[in-house]
Amino acid sequence: MSREQLAVQRARRAFQTGRTKRLEFRIDQLKSLLRFISERRSNIADAVKRDMAKSENGTELFEMLGVEGEINMAVENLAQWAAPRPVEKNLLTVTDEVYIQPEPLGVVLIIGAWNYPWAVTLQPLVGAIAAGNAAVIKPSEVSAHSAKLMEELLPQYLDKDLYPVVTGGVPETQELLQQRFDHIFYTGSSTVGKLVMGAAARHLTPVTLEMGGKSPCYIDKKSDIPVACRRITWGKFVNCGQTCIAPDYILCEPSIQDRVVEEIRRSIKEFYTDDPKAFEDYGRIVNQQHFERVMALMEGSTVAVGGESDASQCYIAPTVLTDVTRESKVMKEEIFGPLLPIVPVSGVEEAVRFINEGEKPLVVYVFSNDNKLIKRMIADTSSGALLANDCLVHFTVTALPFGGVGNSGMGCYHGRHTFDRLSHLRSCLIKQLKMEGVNRMRYPPHTAKKLSWARFLLLRRTNVSSVRRAVTVAMLVALAAFTVQRFLRRR
Ligand code: NAD
Repeated sequence: MSREQLAVQRARRAFQTGRTKRLEFRIDQLKSLLRFISERRSNIADAVKRDMAKSENGTELFEMLGVEGEINMAVENLAQWAAPRPVEKNLLTVTDEVYIQPEPLGVVLIIGAWNYPWAVTLQPLVGAIAAGNAAVIKPSEVSAHSAKLMEELLPQYLDKDLYPVVTGGVPETQELLQQRFDHIFYTGSSTVGKLVMGAAARHLTPVTLEMGGKSPCYIDKKSDIPVACRRITWGKFVNCGQTCIAPDYILCEPSIQDRVVEEIRRSIKEFYTDDPKAFEDYGRIVNQQHFERVMALMEGSTVAVGGESDASQCYIAPTVLTDVTRESKVMKEEIFGPLLPIVPVSGVEEAVRFINEGEKPLVVYVFSNDNKLIKRMIADTSSGALLANDCLVHFTVTALPFGGVGNSGMGCYHGRHTFDRLSHLRSCLIKQLKMEGVNRMRYPPHTAKKLSWARFLLLRRTNVSSVRRAVTVAMLVALAAFTVQRFLRRR
């Protein structure tokens, strides 16, 4: 039996013991995960630094804070999330118990990507634990130091059997995908997403696919261009552009292109100094292969800012490309690196058309002071999310479901959404073996009279609570009338 098979088997057996059913157990595990983060902060930051030259504070800010927030939220709200959820009744179920009972799915496979190696694996894990599942965690082999550390340290804090970490590359992931899971939670490219979904289909396993794509960013010429460009510069160049929700390219009218370039140049200098290469908050491309891929995307475009590189360090400067068209090489795939192309368009109409001609993105960004224009962008385009007048920060609003649509993903998570995604929402209806008379209308023979009763009881949209109130009032009135009658008779 392979290492991967063994891990899945162990996780399934552990799940079958039923120990994850107890909420106290789940909370214990979540608290241990929190302890892991606080005790191993420096080990984690060190691993990420070695993977991508990220600064310690950067890792804290962009990865661990989010995970900690998710854990705290799950611990605080678990009792409420896991409780039965009463639902609206119809006339036929007024006296019954009708509710949704969330229950664990079983064994979840979490396949992570390398760009935020801790966040994209631990955040789904929080939801998997909270929902009472076992989870096999497969970190990306590309962020090798983080993967190794996760494999080494996580079992020291979490139940070893329920939450094993399996490291390895494509063969190991494919071996895992041969196994039967109850849910697969995948973060990565759309190309591999299709393979994951194909493998899942063999076992009818549901999937969540958190993928990427080309997220556009429209700047209205009447917006506050310096502020817009500052926020875009931050969203684009953080983590060296290797962020799934980074603005991929800018759409704006040709008349403001030069101003946009100048404002971005100014913000790059403000954030990363004149020498980003030597500045600790500007990282590196994850490896040589991605370095070459990103460099090749620049071919044929005009470099307006940056463009410098150093292959020996996988360094590419924050770069702005101008007068880019749909045919340019850089527009053919998700950039996932520090290149920011500007595509001139005649106005919002053309921007909408341009966006709609491509695959549905993970995010549409729009910068404008005109609320009507923003609402129009919402109405006329489709994407996982829309964020107006800022970048990335919708990620921090845990009440908002985070995920893509179409080519950018399926399913969503964060906060309670992860809990629901990794639970089975079981419908429960508890009737009594009483009031058999009511059921006659559904038993043969099916007469017209019975049918009209069924029509009334099933189709009539009645507010059951107001019916209940009316029935109670009627009963009280009847009781009062009866009492008054008896009182009068005695006299
Ligand atoms: P990656 O290369 O790390 O691959 C992701 C996972 O898939 C890894 O665990 C890897 O082992 C596995 N994998 C790779 N090739 C495989 C194959 N042929 N068969 C089976 N498994 C395979 O990451 P990546 O794909 O380069 O990640 C970048 C992509 O992820 C970008 O498109 C980015 O937008 C997206 N992303 C999305 C989110 C999100 O939350 N939506 C977050 C981060 C990254």
